[in-house]
Amino acid sequence: MADHSSVGASRSLSSTARLPRQRTERRAEGRIQALRRTPTKPAQAPPGRSLPEAHLRTLLGQLDPQRLWGKYLQPLLVERTPGSPGNSKVRQFLEDELRALDAGWQVKVDAFSAPTPLGPVAFASVVATLSPEAPRRLTLACHFDSKLFPPGGPPFLGATDSAVPCALLLELARALDPQLRRSKDRGAPVTLQLLFLDGEEALKEWGPEDSLYGARHLAQRMEQTPHGPGLSELQAIEMFVLLDLLGAPNPVIRSHFPNTASWFQRLSSIEKRLHRLGLLASHPRELMYFQQGPPLGAVDDDHVPFLRRGVPILHVIPTPFPVVWHTAADTEANLHAPTVHNLSRVFAVFLAEYLGLR
Ligand SMILES: [Zn+2]
Repeated sequence: MADHSSVGASRSLSSTARLPRQRTERRAEGRIQALRRTPTKPAQAPPGRSLPEAHLRTLLGQLDPQRLWGKYLQPLLVERTPGSPGNSKVRQFLEDELRALDAGWQVKVDAFSAPTPLGPVAFASVVATLSPEAPRRLTLACHFDSKLFPPGGPPFLGATDSAVPCALLLELARALDPQLRRSKDRGAPVTLQLLFLDGEEALKEWGPEDSLYGARHLAQRMEQTPHGPGLSELQAIEMFVLLDLLGAPNPVIRSHFPNTASWFQRLSSIEKRLHRLGLLASHPRELMYFQQGPPLGAVDDDHVPFLRRGVPILHVIPTPFPVVWHTAADTEANLHAPTVHNLSRVFAVFLAEYLGLR
């Protein structure tokens, strides 16, 4: 297997942030052009009003940093490459935790086998939908598989890639459980969907045929699954929010798509508001996570199969990538706990505002 730090083995476009300009521009341009050709509908406009402060404080009080870390994050920090025992164990854990919630989520598994450079491999993504019959969905996604490292070397645990995003989704679902249940009970037209995708990482060398296995399979399946008159499950997705590579200190996250820029702006406003209220820890004003300005480059990731089918995408990924990216140092010890918890706070408010939770 190729060296992990080489262009070939890395996530191609994503390397824009880490590689010398000259080497990446050609690769990136091709991908950016491909993306621009895809017409995408605009996402829904953000609501005019932000959450009242008392409501906001109650909501944040429901988040539990110790639960996020001990109950949700730590069990994910094992090798979980596609088809491995660690992968099945983590998938089962995700299913069990989602099924244990009061709100009554529909939890399905998108299991399939696909040819890979290492031969056929079994993949399985977890799809949790709060209210399957609701006409529209806000979809939050992350990948739960870890990158395959050569045997005999140090293990790769992928703490930022993407155990932390998975733990964030679990904690958000758990913390907002009462509000989500009420939203379901009153038949809210937009529901929440959580995707824990398998097979994001390349098994040998990143490319269109060797990466994004779970996302490619699921996007196609959703496109073929009817959801209401004349619509598919894919068309029911109002916005697809992808969380990746989170948990390292000082992330710089930028908007990647004009049709969701207003929702990116909402994340940025929530961060500023929480900062002003003194509700974020280790968060100096000059180090805002959600920043204005163009991203360092387009990043190839699990959203691509959905983007190509016209789904509005909000890609929450830091550029540059964490320094531990695709190294054995992407471990719990190198995470920055305040950043993880601050992000859980920003997203809790974001979800409450988007879904009108009360
Ligand atoms: Zn990765």
